[in-house]
Amino acid sequence: MHILVSNDDGYLAPGLAALAQAMRRFGEVTVVAPEQNCSGASNSLTLTRPLTVHRAASGFLYLNGTPTDCVHVALTGLLDTPPDIVVSGINNGQNMGDDTIYSGTVAAAMEGYLFGLPSIAFSHVDKGHANLDAAARVAADVVERYINRPLPGPFLLNVNIPNLPYESLGAARCTRLGKRHQAEPVIRATSPRGETIYWVGSAGEARLAGPGTDFHAAAAGAVSVTPLQIDLTHVEQLGGVADWLGA
Ligand code: MN
Repeated sequence: MHILVSNDDGYLAPGLAALAQAMRRFGEVTVVAPEQNCSGASNSLTLTRPLTVHRAASGFLYLNGTPTDCVHVALTGLLDTPPDIVVSGINNGQNMGDDTIYSGTVAAAMEGYLFGLPSIAFSHVDKGHANLDAAARVAADVVERYINRPLPGPFLLNVNIPNLPYESLGAARCTRLGKRHQAEPVIRATSPRGETIYWVGSAGEARLAGPGTDFHAAAAGAVSVTPLQIDLTHVEQLGGVADWLGA
């Protein structure tokens, strides 16, 4: 088994090292991660300049681009043999509900999925990686489950792991994405050179967080596993928009 590991927090992130280490028992591990923290990069590709790949002392490959660049370059020319699975993370902070639209962690896994590979994004719910060893064990459990009992066809799983000791975590729950309130307002300030500057505010609190959602599972201390798809077509609106165009 060949496992491609990436993330969006950058090649020096502790969550990446923990995930790569947890994957080693399953076979060959290749890490290709961004040189810089790219949290919030979503599915962006770098098209305005070339990309270079270097090898860190850890053996990890790092690339001066986005998470999507990393997986894209790995799958389209960098790797001699394609991986069997793509994993991303472990992100420093949750990717639940609307976060998944902006997440570079989810995007790295999504790029693998777009290439037809089983792909899993792992995020640690609270920032700071308390109980990172437990989160790495959960990641290994999920991948081991896939190896022993593969899901049919390619899939994209979004896994959020509460920051609890392994023994305190609830059984993994299959969830749907919740929703958040609108993001906090942008922070406006004045730069040392007198310019008005803006800093994007934090994400909104959970709004749709009832039973069955990722927010609900994580709040109960359970590992949340959400299967994702990519097609953004609003199927219920197809008929109405077709009528509107024809009218
Ligand atoms: Mn991140």
